[in-house]
Parts: sequence; structure tokens; C-alpha cells
Amino acid sequence: MENSVQVLKQLPVYQPSLIGNEKKYVIDCLDSSWISSKGKYIDLFEEGVAKYLGVNHAAAVCNGTVAIHLALLALGIGEGDEVIVPTLTYIASVNAITYTGATPIFIDSQADSWQMDPADLERKITKRTKAVLCVHLYGHPCDMDAIMPIAREHDLFVVEDCAESFGSLYKGQHTGSFGDIATFSFYGNKTITTGEGGMVVMNDETLYDRCVHFKGQGLAKHRQYWHDVVGYNYRMTNICAAIGLAQLENIDVFLNQKKQVAGWYREGFADTSVTFHEPIGDVYHSYWMCSILVASAKDRDPLRNHLAKKGIETRPLFYPVHTMPMYSQKFARFKTAEDLGWRGMNLPSYPGLTKEDVEYVVNSIKSFFGNV
Ligand SMILES: *Cc1c(COP(=O)(O)O)cnc(C)c1O
Repeated sequence: MENSVQVLKQLPVYQPSLIGNEKKYVIDCLDSSWISSKGKYIDLFEEGVAKYLGVNHAAAVCNGTVAIHLALLALGIGEGDEVIVPTLTYIASVNAITYTGATPIFIDSQADSWQMDPADLERKITKRTKAVLCVHLYGHPCDMDAIMPIAREHDLFVVEDCAESFGSLYKGQHTGSFGDIATFSFYGNKTITTGEGGMVVMNDETLYDRCVHFKGQGLAKHRQYWHDVVGYNYRMTNICAAIGLAQLENIDVFLNQKKQVAGWYREGFADTSVTFHEPIGDVYHSYWMCSILVASAKDRDPLRNHLAKKGIETRPLFYPVHTMPMYSQKFARFKTAEDLGWRGMNLPSYPGLTKEDVEYVVNSIKSFFGNV
């Protein structure tokens, strides 16, 4: 036997691809000294995102969490109001509702798409319901044909949390262009990144003006240093926007690479007991995350440990938010969300993964179940 040391593969769940003009544009910010929250890259990035999505307006902000807060503020949501949100989501979707003083009302998910269940949405509407927050989870769009008529009938605002769905399509139309207002995150592990960053997009000009007003300290329009509401500093820097613009230039590259990665996983899991997160209906699943369900919840964490030993990072699916201490005062069960939450995990999902990397992950999973 040779005495060679085998270098263990290290596959993180995500890493950004900074393969384009990121460095060039950031250096331009430094050379020109436009490093704060004014400058050409903010405008170019906002215009670029709005054009890509097919919406009228975009307002850049410093992260995806404040983007949701700002969207809710712009709609005038606050104390006494209820906002319906899936329990199976990232914590920020729910916390942003709490920041406004409104009450988050949880709903269950659908077993096949993992998205919010429109039937449960309809059941949870009360006289106090003001809005529904649709989260297009892991890059799979929500069932907008079912959700929009319910929202219209009950006079609810529709807010789309598209933090995980940049580039996802429902019947050929971009997520983020269905509701009254939509939000994006550009955190380092999102489909396009600015390091930390976010965006609020909308067609309505008044909503856009309200977002700009609230994100810039509530500055009055026609009087300097005069503030007419309690505002926030939620602005994005020109440096972040410079990175974002460079990322946006490569969005098609990223989406195609992610689609290829998802295809390799799909092939790998055919004829196994593992369920791969597939697109349901006429949608384009952008595969922010490639995710699986194991057949039995008791296998999930042992499998994650097995993969960790092989240098493969995974994440559990989101823990349903209604089970977390600050949201669990009222005992409630959400059967599907809980089942998905306990059986699911995200696999390495970034654009730079090779076919060999994906095969290594698939084979490592198969070896856990003893079928290799
Ligand atoms: C990432 C994410 C957010 C928050 O974005 P940040 O930029 O991290 O603040 C909100 N909602 C969902 C569903 C997310 O995945």
C-alpha cells in the first residue's frame, strides 16, 4: 500500500461565484471615492433588477430582512393587524412581521412542492388579516394561481418573500412580480449576492416612494433635514451594489449551472428511497437549494453526521417557526411542515459544483443506506 494521504473533499452547502466584474466595479468605487450609499452602481443595480424581473420600481436596501420590514411598513401594516405566513420558512420572514407590531399567523405547507398551502391560507383569514406573505421556498414558486384570487377576494395585500427565488418563474413570470410588493436578499449564499444586501420591488409608484422615504430616515421631500415620520437607515452601499451589478450580469450562467447541478442530483437519486425536491406544475425551480427528504425522520441527523465525516456540509430544512420558543406560546400542529422539517435537508447547491462533486455526495448518501 502506498503511504499517500487522501485529501478529503470539502463541499460547503454554498459559496458565491465571483467570476465577473465584481472586483473591477468595487475598485471603481474605491478609486472614485463613492463608497457610501450614493453612487451610480445603486441606480444601475436597481434598474437592472427591475428590468430583469419586469417590474416598475426597485429600492436597494442593506439586507433581506429589512427589505421585508420595509415592504410591510410601506403597506401600512402594524399593531392589531394579522399577516399570514408559512411556518416552514426562514425566521426572518416571521420576525419582520413582528417588528411592525402585527401578529404572524402560521399556515401549513404542501407535501409535494413544500410551498404554503392555499387551502390553509383561506382557513386562517380573519377580519384582522391585512396581508399574506408568500415565501417561494428554496427557489420553488408558490402556487400563485391559487393564492392571488383568495387574496383579492378578501382584500389582502400580497407580499412575496423572494429571498430564495431570484430567477424562479411561475407560468413563465418572475416571482416577485405577482403581488403588491416583493423582497429579495443578496446575502452571501443567495443566488446573486452583494455580501449583505436586499431589494424591495413593486409596480406601484406610491409604494416605491414610501419605501424610499422609510429607508432614508423619513426625510421629507421638499425640506432639508426635516423628517416627517420615524424612518430607518436601511440603505445599501454603492460597493454592495457594484458587486450586485456584476452578479446580475452573470445571472443566466448561475441559473444554468444550478439547473445542471439539480439534474445530476435528480439522476443520482432515481431508484433510491431518497425524495428529491422536484418542480410541481408549470414552474421554473431555480434551485437556490437542492434538497432531499429521507423516508424516515430518524435517519436524517445520522445521515447528516455521516456526510459531515466525508467533508459534505448539509443543512436541516428550516425548523417550522411555530416550534421556536418566541412563537410557540399557542400550541399548534402543522403536520406537513413538521414532517418536511424533520425529514428534509439541503445539500451542496452552489453553481461551481462539478458532476464529480455531485456524484460524490450522491454516493455518500447511498453508502449510508447501504446501497452502494
Ligand atoms: C435569506 C432570507 C431572508 C433574509 O435575508 P437576509 O439578507 O439574510 O437578511 C428572508 N427570507 C428568506 C426566506 C430567506 O431565505
